[in-house]
Formats: sequence, C-alpha cells, structure tokens
Amino acid sequence: MTTGFIQQHKRSRHCGAFRDEHVGQQATVYGWVQSYRDHGGVIFVDLRDRTGIVQLRFEPSHGNGTAHAIADKLRTEWVIGARGEVISRGTNINPKIPTGAVEILVDEVTVLNEAKTPPFEIKDEIDTNETTRLTYRYLDLRRPKLSANLALRSRVNQLTRRYFCEDHDFLELETPILAKSTPEGARDYLVPSRVHPGEFYALPQSPQQFKQLFMMSGMDRYMQICRCFRDEDLRADRQPEFTQLDLELSFVDVDEIRTLLDGYVSLIWKAVKGTTVPTPIPSITYQEAMDKYGIDRPDLRFGLPLSDLTEKLAGRATFRVFTDAFERGGIVKALAIPDGSSLTRKDLDKTLPAEAAPFGARGVAWARIAEDGAWSGPVAKGLDDALKTELLAHMEVGPGALILFVADKASVVNASLARLRQVVGDRLGLIDPEMDAFCWVVDFPMFEYDEGAGRWFAMHHPFTSPMDSDVGMLDSDPGKVRAKAYDLVLNGIELGGGSIRIHRSDVQDRVFALLGLDEAERRDKFGFFIDALSFGTPPHGGIALGMDRLMMLLCGADSLRDVIAFPKTQRASDLMTESPSEVSPAQLEELHVRTVVPTPDA
Ligand code: ASP
Repeated sequence: MTTGFIQQHKRSRHCGAFRDEHVGQQATVYGWVQSYRDHGGVIFVDLRDRTGIVQLRFEPSHGNGTAHAIADKLRTEWVIGARGEVISRGTNINPKIPTGAVEILVDEVTVLNEAKTPPFEIKDEIDTNETTRLTYRYLDLRRPKLSANLALRSRVNQLTRRYFCEDHDFLELETPILAKSTPEGARDYLVPSRVHPGEFYALPQSPQQFKQLFMMSGMDRYMQICRCFRDEDLRADRQPEFTQLDLELSFVDVDEIRTLLDGYVSLIWKAVKGTTVPTPIPSITYQEAMDKYGIDRPDLRFGLPLSDLTEKLAGRATFRVFTDAFERGGIVKALAIPDGSSLTRKDLDKTLPAEAAPFGARGVAWARIAEDGAWSGPVAKGLDDALKTELLAHMEVGPGALILFVADKASVVNASLARLRQVVGDRLGLIDPEMDAFCWVVDFPMFEYDEGAGRWFAMHHPFTSPMDSDVGMLDSDPGKVRAKAYDLVLNGIELGGGSIRIHRSDVQDRVFALLGLDEAERRDKFGFFIDALSFGTPPHGGIALGMDRLMMLLCGADSLRDVIAFPKTQRASDLMTESPSEVSPAQLEELHVRTVVPTPDA
C-alpha cells in the first residue's frame, strides 16, 4: 500500500463530477470501492466519494496488466486511487447516475487501505437498525443520502452567512459555552467548576442574554449559527444539543425583522428547492390561530377551520357530554368536514378518539348530515331542529357533512381538535405535499398561568417586551398583556421565534418580579443584566430559527438524526463514543463532585 501515489498524482475531480465533456482526458480519482463486477475478463468497479460514483473499467490486456490483477483483489470499502483515460460508455449509458455516460479505463491503480467487511452495506434504502447505524456513524455517513444532507447543510450555512453578514450588515459573533443559566424554560446542562468548588456553569439554552448584551455594546446586528443545550426528555424531533440561527438587531420593529426573515427563507427556498415563497409571508394572531386551528402553529396547507359552538350550545343542547363540560366551565368546539363520507364508523368509534386521547379528550362526539338533511350520530338527539339549522349555517356546511365535537376545558378541546384536523386533512388527501405554507404567528400573550406552580410563566421568555398599549395591565391583569413576540411557522411546524425585547431596566425588573422572583433572586440571577439595561440600551429585538429542523424539512428527511452528523439517541446517548460515561474517581474529586446513582426500584 503506497501513499507515494498521492504525492505524484493530484485528484483531477471528484467521482461524481465526470461528464461527457471529459472524454479523452487523463484523470486521477480517489475513493471507496462501492462494488466490483467481473464481466468475463473485464472488471468494473464503482468508485464512490461524497459526490457520487464513477465507473472504473479494468481490461486484462490493457497496459501491462497489473491494474487488472490488482482490481481482481479489490473488496468493498477498500480505499484506492486510480488513473486512466475518461472514455465514453457509448450505448451502455447508465441513466441512473449523473456520471453514467462515461467511465475511466484504468492504467494504474493503487490500494491505499483495505477495509474490514462493514456491518452493513453502504447504500441508501437499506434496512439496518438505527442502533447499528449510530454505532458505526462514520460508515452511515458514507451513504449518499446522508452525505448529501450534510453537504446541503454546509451550503445553507454559507448562504445564511452571506445573506446576513454580507447583504445585511450583520456581524458574526461568538458567545460563551461555559455560561450562566438563561431561563428558556428547559433544564440546564451543568458543568462543575474545578476552580470554584461547589459552583457550576450552565451550558447555554440559547445565547439570549449575550445577544442582547451585544446590542448594549453597540454591535447593532449580530448573527451566529450556534449550538444550544437543553436537558429535556427527548421527543422524536428534539436533540439535547441543537443548532440555532441566532439573530439580534438594534433600532428595529417587528415588521423589519419579519421582512428580513421573509427575504431569508425566500432565498433559501429558491436556492435549495427552486420554489418561490410568496412574500410578505402572511400573519395570523395567536388568538385567531387558537380559535380557528386550536394550535399556535397552524398548518395552512388546507382549510377545515374549527368552530367554537359554546355560545350556541350552552343552555340549549341537552347532550350529556356537552352539559357536563359546561358545568365544569368547559367549552365545545367542532371540526366540520364538508364531505365526510369516506370516514367510516370505525374511524369515528376507534381511530379518531384514539388520536385525540393523548391530548386529554375523553371522547369525540359526532354527527353526520345525510343528503336529505337528516342528522345521525350521538349528538343528533340532544339538538332541536332550529339549533341544527343554526349550527350548519354557522359552520358553513350542509348535507354530506360530518361534524366532530370535543367538549372539555379549552386547552384539551383545542389540542385534540388540532390533532383531529391534521389527521382528517391527511386522510382526505387535503394536504398537498408539494406545498409550503409559511405564516407568522403574532401577538402572543406575554404570560401563561401554571395552576400547578401557582404562578405566571413567560410564554416566550422573560426578556420579551409587552405591547406598548398593554404595559398598563402588567400589574392589574397580566393574563391580558400581549407580547411583541412572533413565531415563524411552516406547514404546522415551528421554524423559530423571537421578540422585541424589554430595553428599560425598570420594566425588566417588574417582569422578573411578576414571574415570582423576589428582590434577592433578581439581583443574584440577573443583577448584571438589569444594570446593563440602565446604561443606554437601544431598543432591540431578534429571533432564532432551529437549523436542524429547517434542514430536516429542506432535505425531506424523516428524522433530525438524518441532518446532524453525530446525533444522540432518544435517551441522549452517543452510541459511537459511548457517551455519557463514567469518569475516574480522581476526576470527580478534582471537581469536588460526589455522585449518588439511584438504585433501580426493587
Ligand atoms: N432565545 C430565543 C430561543 O432560543 C429566541 C429569541 O428570542 O431570539 O427560542
């Protein structure tokens, strides 16, 4: 095995780059053996690198025959270098690959490294369990789909930097990883300090305070493609460390930030998908989103709005499920499907209630309107004719319609009907998979009340500014205060969110107090920040987009793990390096840390 070959021969181009126009040229290529085939003397080797595959041809009588003799010994995943002339494949074109019109007739080949047989074939569409794939992630990343995802990710990062830094005067600035806890609402990852016994750094859940401090420093416009850490129980679309496009700007209002982001997603969608995003991206208020879709990240690729029937039904409907809900202070909302004929009795009795159950719904009541206008289903009996007519007019449906009702407290009703709307939209084929429906959700409430904790929580984060018109209600009616916060949503998925920030230290201090921090805690946790606000802080605001999720959508991947080079499992472990892992007692001692590992329940 010789690396002298590399010194003598520079790569002409990547494997995937050979085309007709290179016929007749001498070429040097490097890569991995994808496959080899002996066609009665002529050996064909598919050579792969991250850009694709080129076919190598070894003829027994070509040159002095050594290349052919070596080719005869090659095995998959061996690393080789080869030289020869690019020739046309004539009529034997392989239309499935971009290099399919040509091949390289090899004069000289060298084996740079042999390979053990990999635990799975390096190929897309292989059915290997994910544990094996993640344990041998470096092999998994050799697969064309995954390496293409990473290459696209790199390209999007470059476009992002160019758009913000070159075209819009942002500075790309870095913020610390060993930092102090910023309340974004999740659990912190903590790092014990060796130098300060008993004290800890927190890994940033986001660089929120630092990016605001950049505005106080006069940096004016900041961007960073940064890593954030949140120690949450992982759902399918979460990773404990994830990447955010983090932005902050001074002297701007909500509209300017939205316009900037509209331009950004248009650019990326044009460059990657070749589609035009209609701008300005439309907006919907939080209230309207909740009323019509039951969720603050509505999928606007299809209609099927929800209707609130509480006012119409209260005191008039005798159906038990409704009257019980009203007695407990609940509401009734409905999803009216203009043509519900394809949903079967089994859907109504089993499938749909099972979809709604995880969101707290104890059942899904329904009514079907026949072509002659007659109502059937459990709800029908409890409604008089006048009320039935009123309801249909209100929901703008008629004969052939199917109506799904959920009665409960508002949060349960909204969440379960939002789910049912999605399931039904999908089932009835109302969702065009080619469509991208972006929207801004605006005018979020500033706070939400947590009954369990008995206090207010910031809906976005505590640095978000209340609307100027609502500041007066901060003390009197916090639940009514709306925030200058906005989320960017695509097809029911939150791409990111941000807000105009509080830039006055007295308002910030009041908000912290409202969130239940007493004077001492405020000083201890945020003293430096409240002080900083009082030294001439410009009005400012920003946003962060989740880059992993954005890439997942752009790549058409099913999982975040397909766009992150070295992801963690659902249980937050890295199977390849076997992390997390125990450390030596000496390391713990140095860090002044003692562990108490819970014993499994007997
Ligand atoms: N720091 C926020 C987040 O990580 C985003 C922002 O307000 O800019 O969600």
